Amino acid sequence: MNTRVLTGITTSGTPHLGNYAGAIRPSIRASTQAGVDAFYFLADYHALIKCDDPQRIARSRLEIAATWIAAGLDAERVTFYRQSDLPEIPELCWMLTCVTAKGLMNRAHAYKASVDQNLLKQVDPDDGVTMGLFSYPILMAADILMFNAHKVPVGRDQIQHLEMTRDIAQRFNHLYGGDYFVLPEVQIEEDVATLPGLDGRKMSKSYDNTIPLFEGGAGALRAAVMRIVTDSRAPGEPKDAEGSHLYTIYRAFASPAEAAQFRTQLEQGLGWGDAKQLLCERLEQELAPMRERYAELMARPERIEDILQAGAAKARKLSAPFMARLREAVGLRAAAKPAGKGASAKGKGAAGGKARFVSFRDEQGLFRFRLLGTEGQELLLSESFADPKAAGRAVQALRSGVLDELLSLEGQSAALSVDGRVVARLAAEHLPQLRGALAELAAQ
Ligand code: AMP
Repeated sequence: MNTRVLTGITTSGTPHLGNYAGAIRPSIRASTQAGVDAFYFLADYHALIKCDDPQRIARSRLEIAATWIAAGLDAERVTFYRQSDLPEIPELCWMLTCVTAKGLMNRAHAYKASVDQNLLKQVDPDDGVTMGLFSYPILMAADILMFNAHKVPVGRDQIQHLEMTRDIAQRFNHLYGGDYFVLPEVQIEEDVATLPGLDGRKMSKSYDNTIPLFEGGAGALRAAVMRIVTDSRAPGEPKDAEGSHLYTIYRAFASPAEAAQFRTQLEQGLGWGDAKQLLCERLEQELAPMRERYAELMARPERIEDILQAGAAKARKLSAPFMARLREAVGLRAAAKPAGKGASAKGKGAAGGKARFVSFRDEQGLFRFRLLGTEGQELLLSESFADPKAAGRAVQALRSGVLDELLSLEGQSAALSVDGRVVARLAAEHLPQLRGALAELAAQ
């Protein structure tokens, strides 16, 4: 199976140089590697946590989508979608919210930072804290677990959230007795720079210190670069390249040889004005062709909408069947089906209590089935079938009551084969229960 990589950008502002160098560019590179299935999304539900300006949200969704595409994302190859186009995301978020301890959220960095600031200001610790901010690690967990991503490239500040995602996934798997969720791994991009902003702090929408990537054209980029804070050393005086924000940004866009040359020039006294000019030229080399594509896309928002709708349809091919499975797991089932785990004895009787096969599509869109016992417990989970007819034949073979003809034992484990392929495996100790249920079905 391919490695699933997932990343999102919050749509609460205009994409900046840091988003590009720290997220978009490395993600696009990663998506072209063999064996990688990339899921890239616009985190627009997350944006609502930080921003209550509808115009800004709408504009940012467009800008960020256009940026990804202009920067070279192949929307056919990756799954590229808007978070809010997938109704399964908030549904999963709620299921996860119901298994997440409040204490876990109390420990989240973003929430704790707000509380600490409030304590300093001597106001209520939860002043200005919405439930969105408090529980956003759960929404993030839903984003990741919806597609069972294996790897999530993040900055160091997000490691804690990934750990929380793993905790939540484990808890759900444990409570509902199945391997529903893969435990995702964080992928720290050591060689991806964190770009400083105009004032030297991390470039961030929240600090209002960003260099816009495409918006405003070459003029806006240049104007922002000219505002990068430097020390007061005059032209001719040697500069400390390593300690300068200008050099950090330059290095993120240059080859090692170009960066070394720039560094030497600074150390030999290059003036800050000339250094800024060189930085502008280097940035333009990479960004100018993309900016043109960006402008074309922004002039045709319906084209962007089409791409995003196609992406949502592709994503929902995975999220919809997976959600159906999760609904089944937690007991959100059709009224005619018998109650499962946790049902009262009375409930079981009322529901009929017959063993039955249940077919479903797994998160890869492949066909599988389960045999559920009289109390709704899982007795058998099939392998995956690309062809639904093959799955149907396997069910028929099991229903026919000739279990021993399908069975081979290997130590403690049993395999069931139909048409020369293994269709399910189970622990040998569960065979008596399976036998009982199949006999009952054959008699029906
Ligand atoms: P955000 O806008 O906070 O949702 O960030 C979107 C992506 O851009 C995340 O992967 C961030 O790690 C990345 N990013 C944001 N700011 C910077 C920065 N100053 N330098 C490098 N990467 C950044």
